[in-house]
Amino acid sequence: MTGELSPQASPSEIGYEGALRPGTLDEFVGQFKVRSQMNLLLSAATMRGVAPDHILLAGPPGLGKTTLSMIVATELDKPLHQTSGPAIQHAGDLAAVLSALTPGEVLFVDEIHRMARSAEEMLYLAMEDFKVDIMVGKGAGATSVPLELAPFTLVGATTRAGLLPNPLRDRFGFTAHLEFYSEDELASVVRRAARLLNFDISEQGIEEIAGRSRGTPRIANRLLRRVRDYSLVHEMVADTASVEAALTLYDVDKHGLDRLDREVLRAVIQRFNGGPVGLSTLAVSVGEEAETIESVVEPFLVRAGLLTRTPRGRVATQLGWDHISAHK
Ligand code: ATP
Repeated sequence: MTGELSPQASPSEIGYEGALRPGTLDEFVGQFKVRSQMNLLLSAATMRGVAPDHILLAGPPGLGKTTLSMIVATELDKPLHQTSGPAIQHAGDLAAVLSALTPGEVLFVDEIHRMARSAEEMLYLAMEDFKVDIMVGKGAGATSVPLELAPFTLVGATTRAGLLPNPLRDRFGFTAHLEFYSEDELASVVRRAARLLNFDISEQGIEEIAGRSRGTPRIANRLLRRVRDYSLVHEMVADTASVEAALTLYDVDKHGLDRLDREVLRAVIQRFNGGPVGLSTLAVSVGEEAETIESVVEPFLVRAGLLTRTPRGRVATQLGWDHISAHK
């Protein structure tokens, strides 16, 4: 999905996101359980004077994995090195990163499930014994040279925890499963961002944005930015009416559905009489890739209680019917 409701960051908003990132666990909104677990892990490691266990952050995009990795480094008062799975295509890429780490440094690997297999195997030994075996030379004359590493903490992030091989998953001492945020939590995210942006918005306006943000802080912050633009250009105070007008302009409805979400739901209801309808038939009928429908549209419609998946296909719920009749 592209546009205002994409949970992925667009390149142009990376700088803006940086300015809104909470810097400490206390400032991090929601995820109470993860925060408490992490607090304990980091405090105990600090008291013992050792690097904490490696941490795996699992959950959909935009829920705060990168932010949490930065917080880990801040709370430990150690430097952070950031890289990503797709950037590690050979074991040598990983060896270069690992050998440059300083004692206690936090290594963040985003999309860790996309790292090359050969690097993954090197990482097992590095995580367990802070060692790597570097291959020198080629063919029959190749030898492996062991290299000691400084103790470090790996923070891996993945949107697809199920894709990680077991030996890698098992080497993380702590796995945090990030959940979608409640509307109250999203309202706190928006309130905090508005304060940092020096943007005056009414409490109802904040709640209106929170309700349309699909449980995702990244989307909440982005919608706030659109509302800020709208208020500036139309010289309007930011209240429910201007939030409504701004987000309607961007096709984001009351429940955070956009054009494609509504088209899919409408197709199930109007063309297939509410279902059940198979994924590929549905994809053809809205002219979209089955993959997009399955990975982006459906999970949200199901979570919002508008659609269910049955063994015979997708079926619209009563709430789904109500939603479409309200948006003719
Ligand atoms: P991706 O998987 O796409 O990299 P992510 O899970 O790493 O996404 P972040 O980049 O950490 O997500 O967060 C996205 C934006 O949402 C940031 O601007 C951050 O400020 C904000 N954000 C995320 N979680 C919180 C939170 N708990 N409290 C306040 N703001 C948050």
